[in-house]
Amino acid sequence: MHSQILEDAGLSGKSGQFTFDLVAQQGRARAGIFHTPHGILQTPLFAPVGTQATVKSITPDQLNELNASLILANTYHLFLRPGDDLVAELGGLHHFMNWPNPILTDSGGFQVFSLAESRKIDADGVTFRSHIDGSTQRLTPESSIAIQQNLGADIIMAFDECAPPYDPEYNRRAMERTHAWAYRCLRAKTRPDQALFGIVQGGIFPELREVSAAYIASLGFPGHAIGGLSVGETKEEMNSILEIVDRILPEDKPRYLMGVGTPEDLVNGVLRGVDLFDCVLPTRLARHNSAMTRTGRLNLVNATYTRDQAPIDENCSCYTCRNFSRAYLRHLIAAREMLSATLLSIHNLHTLLQLAREIRQAIIEGCFDQFAANFFAQRSGSEQETSR
Ligand SMILES: [Zn+2]
Repeated sequence: MHSQILEDAGLSGKSGQFTFDLVAQQGRARAGIFHTPHGILQTPLFAPVGTQATVKSITPDQLNELNASLILANTYHLFLRPGDDLVAELGGLHHFMNWPNPILTDSGGFQVFSLAESRKIDADGVTFRSHIDGSTQRLTPESSIAIQQNLGADIIMAFDECAPPYDPEYNRRAMERTHAWAYRCLRAKTRPDQALFGIVQGGIFPELREVSAAYIASLGFPGHAIGGLSVGETKEEMNSILEIVDRILPEDKPRYLMGVGTPEDLVNGVLRGVDLFDCVLPTRLARHNSAMTRTGRLNLVNATYTRDQAPIDENCSCYTCRNFSRAYLRHLIAAREMLSATLLSIHNLHTLLQLAREIRQAIIEGCFDQFAANFFAQRSGSEQETSR
């Protein structure tokens, strides 16, 4: 078994600095604590995305006020600009962006496949043209780990290939490549103060997901991610894949559902054993004038809000809802004032962070089934939302 080899070689990624304690379980839902060198993470947890070492339009102080614990930064973007060597020279990502709490970096894989101008995949890695200046660049499992070690996040991710969800042959090839690359990432990693998570792929195909979850679990990573979801498949397909993977991944390590984060995705994911979520949606929607609530979205451009003195959500305790009306937000948007993005981002991030906290509390109190039933009852009639 690879895991035995890796443990013998001290490469398994297990480290005293990273432990995961389950504090409560209800059905498949779990509440846990993941210890990292920059603080503890209470799960289930939603992580705001700071693509370019900034959660767009939000300061670290504001993130602290929102009680965000983990944020995500993107390897692809920081590798191209300003460059991981420069970030390392300037003291690493925590210091550079003044975020002393836990950080997760992705591997660059997803962005290479979705953003890079042209890309050529071979067994060793991916060659692509930068979306910024058209220069030719290359990422391999080894270089992705080297970049992530330079950036210095607490949780780093294996370099993987995310295929379109419905092509069975492509997904089989991408999964096999992802498995070979996961092993190479483990061998390349040297920093003991970072936890490397493996990624399960396999599209919407149950048999591929079973093979992938079993193989990735066998490598002895300290945490596991489920990739390749919310990329065009239906909610039902995503949920059934989560149920398959949940049965196979070890219970004593955190599970991270990558790039997924509508309110209903959080509840559905936790019901199927997921502990960590991240998504650009709250801040992206904010820049597109849209407010997220548990029951749906408000487009604040709408003329019906011109004289509406109510907050976005009467039940929300965020800074925006405590202080500003829908009418004022609509005015800021009409006047193209930057503050609209900040205020809407604060509200949207609060919506997901607070939902994750309430989910955790409900699991601990043993009433998560009722919580989930109430959540879906409140949403009935509202449209399905997607994360990307
Ligand atoms: Zn609010």
